[in-house]
Amino acid sequence: MSEPLTDEERLLQATARDFAEREIAPGAAERDEAERYDRSLFTAMGGLGLTAAPFPASVGGAGFSYLGWTLAMEELGAVDMAMAVSLSVHILSQYPVVTWGTEEQRDRWLPAMLSGEALGAFALTEPLAGSDAAALRTRAERVGGGRGARKDPGADPGADPGEDSGAGGGEPDAYRLTGTKIWISNAPEAERYLVFATVDPSAGRDGITAFLVEKGMPGFRFGTHERKMGIRACPAAELIFEGCEVPVANRVGAEGDGYRIALSALGEGRISIAAACVGLARSGLESSARYLGERTAFGGPLSEQQGLRFMLAEMARDVAAARALTREAAAAKDRGEPIAEVSSLAKWTASDTAMRVATDAVQLFGATGYSRETGIERLMRDAKGAQIYEGTNQIHREIVAGGVLKRAGSRAGGS
Ligand SMILES: Cc1cc2nc3c(=O)[nH]c(=O)nc-3n(C[C@H](O)[C@H](O)[C@H](O)COP(=O)(O)OP(=O)(O)OC[C@H]3O[C@@H](n4cnc5c(N)ncnc54)[C@H](O)[C@@H]3O)c2cc1C
Repeated sequence: MSEPLTDEERLLQATARDFAEREIAPGAAERDEAERYDRSLFTAMGGLGLTAAPFPASVGGAGFSYLGWTLAMEELGAVDMAMAVSLSVHILSQYPVVTWGTEEQRDRWLPAMLSGEALGAFALTEPLAGSDAAALRTRAERVGGGRGARKDPGADPGADPGEDSGAGGGEPDAYRLTGTKIWISNAPEAERYLVFATVDPSAGRDGITAFLVEKGMPGFRFGTHERKMGIRACPAAELIFEGCEVPVANRVGAEGDGYRIALSALGEGRISIAAACVGLARSGLESSARYLGERTAFGGPLSEQQGLRFMLAEMARDVAAARALTREAAAAKDRGEPIAEVSSLAKWTASDTAMRVATDAVQLFGATGYSRETGIERLMRDAKGAQIYEGTNQIHREIVAGGVLKRAGSRAGGS
């Protein structure tokens, strides 16, 4: 049985719900149609503290529990998945600095992001590296200085992640980034990019390193705008690096820490996406229930047809189960427990639920659901992407299976 919500968590939930219904919902259909990002909504979320909500007060955050954060994300997902994803990615791009960054990096990077003045993005995917993120090819060549700060792969995994191992001697002065990232949400709107590149392509995941890159840095430009099926009001674009020089002070963690940094941030981001999916599914369920009560056929409201009532019941069951799992994942994070597996379970379950409920909602609305005038088909288009981004649901099956096998003592278990 989960703990009752605290007053602070209820306040965050009510704040998000009020803003979502009053400010985000009214223009959502128009923004989707026009593929238009409304920056003023993001700025306003900053004013409400939503851009700082899940971070501790010690780094300038609002200090809400992660459970509280999922309540807020559910409210945003219920009215506009595009805005929910934009905010979730913005939060995702800050985790590595909060968790792995130095004091100087936190002071320099976080205030404008926590306040909602600067928008963030998380740049991992490449044309030849999606699910297989360790295959990324964007190069980070050392410029000047010593031989770099390559982390010893066998070094103590419990060591302070912000600590530089110093293995390998002196630091370079900078890194030169060359390569292409694709499908980067919030680009080109965002000012702040967390970019993963490799200092040694032959080293696989051990070469991957995280960098802070700002819009406008020489050698960094935007390529194709991704034309999407859903969440069309959340922009996504290619990032092109052509010898972009990034000072060593912008490297997060040591050389070779990037893969672990990406995975740990994604573990948190997946819970946030799961919560938004619960909101989307809730919206499909509630709209369907209203419609079945209003629509008459064969001499009475459709809500009297048992076949349709059973569909509604199954939708309600799936929403409740996805919400429970998402909140359990958030509570595990709040307790400081490992979350890789439970966040995969939550994201996989909630995004599949969102897709199934949205598809059923279109069916229950008939042609009205298929029309672009009612917003029901948007739920279906918006749900689909969540089965793909932040780890496809096949990859989540892999993560979960690895955990199960590991506990069973199998050699095929996850590491
Ligand atoms: C709307 C949207 C927003 C995105 N935003 C971002 C972002 O902000 N930042 C970012 O870095 N990326 C982003 N992405 C990219 C996203 O993370 C990748 O699309 C995703 O990781 C899958 O990679 P891929 O598309 O290359 O598919 P692939 O990895 O090529 O996979 C193709 C298919 O094969 C399956 N597959 C692959 N490997 C295995 C395996 N080992 N076992 C079983 N099945 C497998 C996959 O599940 C998928 O069905 C976004 C994508 C979308 C659609």
